[in-house]
Amino acid sequence: MTEEQKRIKELEEEISRLKELAYKDELTDLYNRHGFKDESAKFIDEVKGYLENPTRRENFLIKSLSLGIFDIDNFKKINDTYGHQAGDMILKLFSRIIKERVRGIDIVARWGGEEIIVGLVGSDENNAYEILDDIRKKIEETEVEWEGKTIKFMVSGGVASFTENEDFDSLFKRSDEALYKAKQTGKNKIVKASDL
Ligand code: GH3
Ligand code: MG
Ligand code: MG
Repeated sequence: MTEEQKRIKELEEEISRLKELAYKDELTDLYNRHGFKDESAKFIDEVKGYLENPTRRENFLIKSLSLGIFDIDNFKKINDTYGHQAGDMILKLFSRIIKERVRGIDIVARWGGEEIIVGLVGSDENNAYEILDDIRKKIEETEVEWEGKTIKFMVSGGVASFTENEDFDSLFKRSDEALYKAKQTGKNKIVKASDL
């Protein structure tokens, strides 16, 4: 390897290290917002291409994309009752449970405090609903041991699937409205945007 090649390799490693820092959430090791936007961009282009070019559909590999938004129920109460560290531990566990259920190609990111979004590649809304609801059930069944106490927690979610003439912001808005509905109608449930 020449000096120049060595230097290039070093710079490439430096770039991936910086990308990791810029794109990852430290607590959960999920992507952060920047990471989600960057990772999902190519899938969004692909599914938009598919939806907007009905005559050339065979050119596009990805025919659907769904967005799920999760929010932990009554998380403030969990922090208040068991402490912030217990809350952090629950956030990490929640992230792990999601990662275990989705596929490697799907994108999972911490959107804000206790909100996690999931980009499900190739899933239509019903498909995505099933995956999100499996995660919700798994969490409902999970008992967390913390300083000699058993903590239970629950999550709500909203899900929407990409439609023609849509962009990320409108897809997000529809998923978020579905989440809002889940919260308003008793929590511990997943709501589909198409049911609103
Ligand atoms: P809801 O069911 O309506 O979602 O109620 P909630 O209590 O979960 O919602 P609210 O927005 O009132 O509270 C969110 C809480 O999440 C408040 C904040 O302290 C906590 N939170 C946000 N980020 C973190 C974090 O990184 N660690 C911990 N432990 N708590 C966090
Ligand atoms: Mg919240
Ligand atoms: Mg919450």
